[in-house]
Amino acid sequence: MLLSIIVPCYNEQETVPIFYRTVNEIAPQLGVDLEFLFIDDGSQDQTLAEIKKLSEKDERVNYVSFSRNFGKEAAIYAGLQNAVGDYLVLMDADLQDPPFLLPQMLREIRENGYDCVATRRVTRKGEPPIRSFFARMFYRLINRMSKTEIVDGARDYQMMTRQVADAILSIGEYNRFSKGIFGWVGYKKKWLEYENVERVAGETKWSFWKLFVYAMDGIVAYSTVPLVLSSVLGLVLFVVAFAFIIVIIVRTLVFGDPTQGWPSLACIIILLAGLQLFSIGILGQYLAKTYLETKKRPIYLVREEKVAQSVHKVSDSALHEDHLTVQ
Ligand code: UDP
Ligand code: MG
Repeated sequence: MLLSIIVPCYNEQETVPIFYRTVNEIAPQLGVDLEFLFIDDGSQDQTLAEIKKLSEKDERVNYVSFSRNFGKEAAIYAGLQNAVGDYLVLMDADLQDPPFLLPQMLREIRENGYDCVATRRVTRKGEPPIRSFFARMFYRLINRMSKTEIVDGARDYQMMTRQVADAILSIGEYNRFSKGIFGWVGYKKKWLEYENVERVAGETKWSFWKLFVYAMDGIVAYSTVPLVLSSVLGLVLFVVAFAFIIVIIVRTLVFGDPTQGWPSLACIIILLAGLQLFSIGILGQYLAKTYLETKKRPIYLVREEKVAQSVHKVSDSALHEDHLTVQ
């Protein structure tokens, strides 16, 4: 039995060796063979060099290096695609995903029949309070709006069977919001909880703005409620305006027409213009995502790689040859 450890890395030159060492200390408790698959997400520092150093010493270390930074979601996709293990686990390079959970995760899958073991952190210790506040708001909002459950504090740190990995890979969309995809595929899932751990070295790659954009992407990808919202608002305004018209007609007929109400008119026009732009903006978000999706661009591009020959790839090329001989 083989466990593939998939590690997305973006500028993680300090953490890669520490990560490798720490996981290796746990390894004997696991009782399975390991594969390390580092995904270098277009790092500008010495990350790839560090990975190659490990790979020369240890043949279990594989890597895929992207042509530029494609983002963690793309790295996860590439990892699941190129790993060959019977079980796969996604881990951050910064040891914020505690390796001591690995034996328990493996046990839940092998002995208790789960397909997937996911983790969530129950505290956000060490994080700026404002960031925690917005994160909480985001999870409340998205869970109101989306049918897919997106768990607060859920990490990408998950172990899964090959079957689940294949299910995730079958979702070939370009705008990948993993937290949603993991929920969407379903399967028997066990949740483990732990207290937040701070990074061992280096710094976070997520600025507040990047997180905000990510949150918006998540909402657009997993809910169409914002679209409904603008129709509902439109309808409500229509009803209100209709009532207004009647009031004004009656008032004019009964009391005559004192020419008043300039300021209120201006306010109403601005308010409506704002609402219209807002709704068009929402529509635009969905359109933009659809546009990107229809381009069918690859999710990532590889500059160099060293990967194990996967069963999938073999069957893929066999399929291709079959196809050729038939022709
Ligand atoms: N990461 C990546 N591509 C990116 C940003 C981050 O592969 O564009 C990796 C990063 O190297 C790390 C993991 O994703 O292994 C989590 O990133 P980070 O620790 O910066 O995020 P945080 O834990 O602060 O949310
Ligand atoms: Mg981190």
